Amino acid sequence: MKNQEIPYKTYLTEQELPTAWYNLRADMKTKPAPLLNPGTGKPLTAQELTPIFCEELVRQELDNDTAFFPIPDEIRDFYKMYRPSPLVRAYCLEKVLDTPAKIYYKFEGNNTSGSHKLNSAIAQAYYAKQQGLKGVTTETGAGQWGTALSMACAYLGLDLKVFMVKVSYEQKPFRREVMRTYGASVTPSPSMETEVGRRILAEFPGTTGSLGCAISEAVEVAVKNPGYRYVLGSVLNQVLLHQSVIGLEAKAAFEKIGVKPDVIIGCAGGGSNLGGLIAPFMGEKLRGEADYRIIAVEPASCPSFTRGVFAYDFCDTGMICPLAKMYTLGSSFIPSANHAGGLRFHGMSTILSQLYHDGLMEARAVEQTAVFQAAEQFARCEGILPAPESSHAIRAAIDEALRCKETGEEKTILFGLTGTGYFDLTAYQQFNDGLMTDTIPTDEDLARSIAALPKVSVE
Ligand SMILES: *Cc1c(COP(=O)(O)O)cnc(C)c1O
Repeated sequence: MKNQEIPYKTYLTEQELPTAWYNLRADMKTKPAPLLNPGTGKPLTAQELTPIFCEELVRQELDNDTAFFPIPDEIRDFYKMYRPSPLVRAYCLEKVLDTPAKIYYKFEGNNTSGSHKLNSAIAQAYYAKQQGLKGVTTETGAGQWGTALSMACAYLGLDLKVFMVKVSYEQKPFRREVMRTYGASVTPSPSMETEVGRRILAEFPGTTGSLGCAISEAVEVAVKNPGYRYVLGSVLNQVLLHQSVIGLEAKAAFEKIGVKPDVIIGCAGGGSNLGGLIAPFMGEKLRGEADYRIIAVEPASCPSFTRGVFAYDFCDTGMICPLAKMYTLGSSFIPSANHAGGLRFHGMSTILSQLYHDGLMEARAVEQTAVFQAAEQFARCEGILPAPESSHAIRAAIDEALRCKETGEEKTILFGLTGTGYFDLTAYQQFNDGLMTDTIPTDEDLARSIAALPKVSVE
């Protein structure tokens, strides 16, 4: 297909929606390290995980070998309300940048929750319902995950209790109201409702909270209440599995127009959108069928890949969750209150951590004002108001396209546009008023939280 014949948007039909999720682990030579029981230091068994997570999700979490998991019809039907999502050729951005690069983005913001998180929310709520549970508990940072899960739970008639990081609860009251409209109960975290919340408040009075802390509270409530389980919107293997629908659709759309990307870029918080976007491409790379440059983009204020260590760590601040081997800044690390709320987690998916450790992908950290400059440039020419998280990927995509301009290379760049920024207008306001700053942790800050990593010896 000639360049000018490539449409602005390539959609798959409903019939072409993937029928199975792809499990990247099946093709990894070095599998991600298992989750460990913090008490015994031994790999967690399904039996130990089922008090926390739904049974089917435990099965998905622990399965390193099955390449494809069929997507149940009920979930595919829900997907059809907002999927397939478009693969967009960013002609206008290319023109503004005057680059020979060809830029594409996969847009996941076309649903009320405004992000890709709904792809896993509906799956997790579905399996909870299947198991006959009353409800689920979770944490949310910026609020996208809580919103997505509240939509999924409302659809299926499940009860939902959300612990929302306090700084977001206060900065993003509108997100909170969307969740409540969909029937969720929302509590600012840390709260006095849980033992771990009370302990953290006693130790750090006035803390604005963190994802790790909200996770501890949500897990505690799930474990203590019969008929409830905990669900998590990122980081876990099962979440990356569900998010593979993004990459599978993107790959099928590229095949429709006869194009192959050279560079694939995504923002990385806990790693779910990036893991999902790259899944089938990375699969080809792992099987030696194709090669792609893959770039994870994270905030300079929470640089897990680029300044963290690859070690076993807790996923939560309260240190009650399993230990995961990942790139981490230490579970006691609380990033400055930046605006990319979805990218403030101290750790990273074990799958992506292993791939990065094995040299199969790159990572870079970008500063907040540079991210918003990219967001502004993108919004003005492509029309979509991007989420601050997504704008990390935009920043890197623009930088790659500008590099192509220097070298004259006609690279094809794909990036994940994970969501919209309508609930992030306080951040845009700061940027527009010239009041935005870049906060980068010092080496001493990081050394302190990294020194507090649990000591784990695994044979
Ligand atoms: C949550 C979120 C992210 C980051 O989460 P990942 O699990 O790393 O994908 C990125 N973009 C948006 C819009 C989000 O809501």
